[in-house]
Amino acid sequence: MAHKTGTIRKVSGPLVVADGMDGAKMYDVVRVSERRLLGEIVELHGSQAAIQVYEDTSGVGPGEPVIPTHEPLSVELGPGLIASIYDGIQRPLDVLRAAAGDFITRGVEAPGLDRARRWRFIPLRRPGDRVGPGDVIARVPETPLVEHRVLVPPDVSGEVVDIAAGEFRVDEPVCRVKTAQGERTLTMLQRWPVRRARPVRRKLPPAEPLVTGQRVVDAFFPIAKGGTACVPGPFGSGKTVIQHQLAKWSEAEIIVFVGCGERGNEMTDVLREFPELSDPKSGEPLMKRTVLIANTSNMPVAAREASVYTGMTIAEYFRDMGYSVALQADSTSRWAEAMREISGRLEEMPGEEGYPAYLATRIAEFYERAGRVVCLGGLEPSSDPAAPAEMEGALTVIGSVSPPGGDLNDPVVQATLRVAKVFWSLEDRLAFARHFPAISWLNSYSLYSTALAEAVRKRSTREFVEDAAEAMRLLEREAELLEIVRLVGKDALSGHDRLVLECSRSIREDFLHQNAFHEVDTFTSLPKQARMLRVILTFFALAEEALEQGADIAELEQLGVREQVARMKFWAEAGFAEKAAALAAETRREVTGSGRALAAGPGGA
Ligand code: ADP
Repeated sequence: MAHKTGTIRKVSGPLVVADGMDGAKMYDVVRVSERRLLGEIVELHGSQAAIQVYEDTSGVGPGEPVIPTHEPLSVELGPGLIASIYDGIQRPLDVLRAAAGDFITRGVEAPGLDRARRWRFIPLRRPGDRVGPGDVIARVPETPLVEHRVLVPPDVSGEVVDIAAGEFRVDEPVCRVKTAQGERTLTMLQRWPVRRARPVRRKLPPAEPLVTGQRVVDAFFPIAKGGTACVPGPFGSGKTVIQHQLAKWSEAEIIVFVGCGERGNEMTDVLREFPELSDPKSGEPLMKRTVLIANTSNMPVAAREASVYTGMTIAEYFRDMGYSVALQADSTSRWAEAMREISGRLEEMPGEEGYPAYLATRIAEFYERAGRVVCLGGLEPSSDPAAPAEMEGALTVIGSVSPPGGDLNDPVVQATLRVAKVFWSLEDRLAFARHFPAISWLNSYSLYSTALAEAVRKRSTREFVEDAAEAMRLLEREAELLEIVRLVGKDALSGHDRLVLECSRSIREDFLHQNAFHEVDTFTSLPKQARMLRVILTFFALAEEALEQGADIAELEQLGVREQVARMKFWAEAGFAEKAAALAAETRREVTGSGRALAAGPGGA
């Protein structure tokens, strides 16, 4: 296609208006000025285009050329993604730094995937095999933690003519496929436009929990594999710790972390901290199953706008390999602010708080790319073409929001809450009270609880789901009772009310409190969570009975087993079931002992 060069008419920060752009299409990528700054067409009127530029436009002026590429903004997909740290348009930060010192210079063309590196390509298909879109044709040991699966591109299907084995660079031919339209040569490298969701065979309803090992999450506000969650994070509320815990412990094999920082240092924190985390199961650096996308404040606002799509597309690509992937975006409020700034410069009609009218649509489209899916292709060659082998993948999306002043009525938060199915309400007042994780048990919610109940029971105990519901009822009752205590004092409470207070205190302190930095406490399996809760509720049930028979609440509160209950979370997973059963039995002995002693009256025993 003839690439007709346009001419800059006007420059407004990250936005450039150019004339003479005949033939260009919305979202086409262009190169702006002699410096070849990367831009994307975001508005077209006849031959006039508005272009958002991903690099600093200072020094660029009217009359300079705009060169269309006639391609949408795309990312490179293939071995080498894992452990990479990219900017919002997938340029490796280390390459940029080496080229330009610590400041990102402009017009640096740094491909997302290293062209020099060789990868071991281990074929999984043979000549003559039929392959279709998304089928896995080879595996590549990418890092000690990730086996990369080389996929047939979504638009290719046919018969394998030949397939290589050995060490290759990402852009070298590794497979030829005879298709209805002729022969196609495949490499390990594919490109995909970031604003378009990658195709799947079909979406599946949420049915499996993404276990996180964080008790407040798994027991009370579980997230499904392929689900969506929203987390606000007031300063100092422990948002970073939660994000790290989820990245380390949740049942996601691949983590894609998109950081949209506002202040420069916010992002450098991520760049410093994430590479230091280790994967608890293997002891390897967590980066060996992570892709990091980082926008520091000195990067142009348009790159921030693009970064969530870059991250999403990379996450979808690993989902298409049959992995459970978690995309963590922090903070989506910064992304929305980037949208607002560009919209303002386009002089679009502003909506609420100056955000563009399409804010809610963009946010919804973003979260809709999450899901548990049957992947387009399969891992194994299928003998029966009518019944192609199926492979399941999941993409869970956890977005944090940071509304100004913590105001949850903010349009970004509201639009997010309409689509995200889980809300983990991180609250600074809990953090001030040293209640960690500072997720409010009263204000958070999960709309997956019912859908996940059966799978959770299967993986824990038959009682866990009901026990969690009962524990939640106690906590809600506690909130009411505390209000009464505040008004009229503790003396107004019945023995039973005091028991409710004692048990809910125990649920909060002995179950919900979880120390991310304690070797054992940092992660709790579902069965251990279930048994911990059972012990606490066993005490409640027995004490309730004892109270009815005249036991004294003050004495029940002081029983020796209370101390052991508080230490339960630090007991190792191995042998926990036996220790918990022994503790329950001990509780029974002490509580009924206390009841009997009382029932017998003074001096009666
Ligand atoms: P934020 O990112 O919201 O500003 P951080 O995640 O850095 O806050 O947490 C602030 C501090 O709170 C941490 O340094 C740590 O001491 C404490 N903290 C947060 N979560 C936990 C946790 N689960 N267990 C123990 N301490 C925690």
